[in-house]
Amino acid sequence: MATLVELAKEGIITSEMKEVAKVEGVEPRYIQQKMALGQVIIPANPQHKAKPVGIGKGLWTKINASIGTSPDICSIAEEVAKALAAEEAGADTLMDLSVGGDLDRVRQEIIAAVKIPVGSVPLYQAFCEANRKYGAPNKLDEELLFDVIEKQCADGISFMAIHCGINLYTIDRLKRQGYRYGGLVSKGGSSMVAWMLHNNRENPLYEQFDRVVNILKRYNGVLSLGNGLRAGAIHDSSDRAQIQELVINCELAEIGLQMGCQMMVEGPGHVPLDEIEANIILQKRMSNDAPYYMLGPIATDVAPGFDHIAAAIGAACSSRYGADLICYITPAEHLALPTIEDVKTGVKVAKVAVHIGDMNKYKDKGRQRDLAISKARRDLDWDAQFALALYGNEARKIREARQPSLADTCTMCGSFCALRNANIHFQTALAQGIKK
Ligand code: SF4
Repeated sequence: MATLVELAKEGIITSEMKEVAKVEGVEPRYIQQKMALGQVIIPANPQHKAKPVGIGKGLWTKINASIGTSPDICSIAEEVAKALAAEEAGADTLMDLSVGGDLDRVRQEIIAAVKIPVGSVPLYQAFCEANRKYGAPNKLDEELLFDVIEKQCADGISFMAIHCGINLYTIDRLKRQGYRYGGLVSKGGSSMVAWMLHNNRENPLYEQFDRVVNILKRYNGVLSLGNGLRAGAIHDSSDRAQIQELVINCELAEIGLQMGCQMMVEGPGHVPLDEIEANIILQKRMSNDAPYYMLGPIATDVAPGFDHIAAAIGAACSSRYGADLICYITPAEHLALPTIEDVKTGVKVAKVAVHIGDMNKYKDKGRQRDLAISKARRDLDWDAQFALALYGNEARKIREARQPSLADTCTMCGSFCALRNANIHFQTALAQGIKK
């Protein structure tokens, strides 16, 4: 079976490309051409009948919601409920990052429940299984890595974050710079580093990169090159180890594309605002505009409990400068496994953030909705405002809970409503359909 990239390289437009083009308001030929260049991806494993979602150059910025069990909190029903809540709140993709309980079952039930593409980090399951079997993740038999990748693809996973870009050279950078202020924060990344150091071995996923690519290709999966050495602290952002891994990941993205696989590069976790643009320029320049998946970024370390907001500010910037997929952050980040409410909040806040980013990424088409809601707000047309709002039902509930005495105003100013009072003096202009 040819992959979507291979078909795109032959100039073939598939049904997935047509569907994405329709949603994005672009020509199907555009999607085909960008896919051939590796600048647009469509995670669409045929084993999971999900809605095709386009990610990449010229398309709306997408949101990913990550869920999954932990060793301490492990309810499959709860994770399925989170998956459905994320989908309903507007997540474009989902990642199952489970590390507790029956990992096969939780993944299969999540995939069966949702209609959006599901991703995973197969290293989690491989190291969990090694830990259960031998009592130590460092005893992992490297063949298990490839078996787990295959098994998760066969279940219908459409994109996988795999830490291929950590190699002995990258670890050397980390040692030479004297470790880090914030340590290592990627579960998959730190497990792989520990395994390599313990066994004095090269990363098998780097050494046998072609094997990883060929498994993904069999399922038309997207290989998302994991950022195992991403900074988990503002003061580690853009350090040599992180940039080293980014260079390698961009190189691997090119090799994977040449082999006919859909590729994506993952970006950092904690980044101050003044480094976001540079980070994206580097990734885009070194990967020939491969889709970039940013984990927010979280723009300060001092906001636990409000990290969804710290990340939304980072996400608005990263979306503006060209990030293509944003991983949401919930209010529970750094503190606990998110609840269903945390998941809903995380998706909604991220959605607002990427809309703000897209308004600047695409100045014309990105601002049309703002123009329409501004007019509805001026005209005190509340139904139109709620229809245009990103989350109109929530907005309506707030208004309806506090009814004004003058029906067209709200309880903020009542009879002092600035809009209402000014509109009275501009009735003629409004009747003539003014634009400003
Ligand atoms: S009452 Fe005040 S806040 Fe409410 S719509 Fe009018 S101007 Fe806006």
